[in-house]
Amino acid sequence: MRTQVAIIGAGPAGLLLGQLLRRDGIDNVILERQTAEHVLGRIRAGLIEQGTVELLEQAGVGDRLHREGLVHDGTQINVDGTRHRIDFKALTGKTVTVYGQTEITRDLMEARAAASGLTVYEAEAVTPLDFLGDRPRVRYRHQGKDHEIECDFIAGCDGYHGVCRQSAPAGTVHTYERVYPFGWLGILSDTRPVSEELIYNRSPRGFALCSMRSPTRSRYYVQCPLTDTVEDWPDERFWDELKLRLDPQARTDLVTGPSIEKSIAALRSFVAEPMRFGRMFLAGDAAHIVPPTGAKGLNLAASDVAFLFEAVVEFYKSGSSAALDYYSARALARVWKAERFSWWMTTMLHKFDDASGFDRKVQAAELDYVLASQAASTSLAENYVGLPY
Ligand SMILES: Cc1cc2nc3c(=O)[nH]c(=O)nc-3n(C[C@H](O)[C@H](O)[C@H](O)COP(=O)(O)OP(=O)(O)OC[C@H]3O[C@@H](n4cnc5c(N)ncnc54)[C@H](O)[C@@H]3O)c2cc1C
Repeated sequence: MRTQVAIIGAGPAGLLLGQLLRRDGIDNVILERQTAEHVLGRIRAGLIEQGTVELLEQAGVGDRLHREGLVHDGTQINVDGTRHRIDFKALTGKTVTVYGQTEITRDLMEARAAASGLTVYEAEAVTPLDFLGDRPRVRYRHQGKDHEIECDFIAGCDGYHGVCRQSAPAGTVHTYERVYPFGWLGILSDTRPVSEELIYNRSPRGFALCSMRSPTRSRYYVQCPLTDTVEDWPDERFWDELKLRLDPQARTDLVTGPSIEKSIAALRSFVAEPMRFGRMFLAGDAAHIVPPTGAKGLNLAASDVAFLFEAVVEFYKSGSSAALDYYSARALARVWKAERFSWWMTTMLHKFDDASGFDRKVQAAELDYVLASQAASTSLAENYVGLPY
């Protein structure tokens, strides 16, 4: 088989890239290890930046997003029982949108199927080959048969555990990492969200986030020890702990109910450099991970895709590889700013058991400053709604 771009991974990065390329007449094939149902079943991101919304519009999948997405003008921060508000729209002129990763994935899958774009699900032993030369190939196994795709470029959109980054020549990948000493226990429930906007809660018992997927579906998280398992957290214990971390109004307003999903995610900051190896390009979680506090993971995957898409189009339209050459540096410049913001939000809002008295005082002063200073609130808002690209 021959295609122009072989995309590995049908998460948001791979599907979005495939859809943008197809609309520009650039042929591509997506290889995905899992089934489509498995990909759709993963409950992950829920909050998207305006830039991501615009990119999804460009990919032709903006209709349901605009019908069902919830536009938020600001967010709320509860500090030890007192709630404050950061008004994104007033401070930056921009908003964010609540629209689940599952829904984005579904929209992109449906658009791809409608356009007869080829996605090979349950592709095994996917292996990128010869990408340092001019004629890259991808080998894989499907339904017991070996296949090979010849292509011009390989897009490694295969997430943190994917094969592409691991296939780079030894010694060429530099990684930077911070692992946080806690996780997020998250539940999804078909209950009315406690607030119209997200509430970030800093409390002496640890961090909690009140988020949502729709006017009738809530997503809540509590900071928990990494040694905990979901079995340690029956629903009742979760709701009791969450209430203890909320402000009095939210505690009164909270509607509880049975969880329909429950999981624990470790928090990690990670960047692999560079994001290009010859004719193979990494995008999204394949190259970087952020702790979810800043809601940046999916949005960074989208900005990588925007840069890569532009570069590939320029190559086919003008024959110039200048944008491809610049891709890694351009993407990483934005990645590192989102890494900084996600690390900063995580550090400011969580309880660190090993923090000294000095660390705690500085953390409290930081939050006090952010909430009291318009310049500091604007900085938070500007990063939260997404830096331009
Ligand atoms: C609990 C949680 C909450 C989150 N909340 C937010 C949030 O609020 N906002 C936000 O912006 N981000 C959030 N994120 C992060 C966001 O979900 C990810 O950044 C996003 O999924 C990245 O998309 P991706 O396409 O790069 O990678 P992925 O979604 O990981 O997709 C990679 C795909 O590649 C496939 N694959 C892997 N290896 C292979 C292989 N060898 N061969 C073929 N296919 C392969 C995988 O099966 C997968 O389908 C959250 C993440 C988690 C875990």
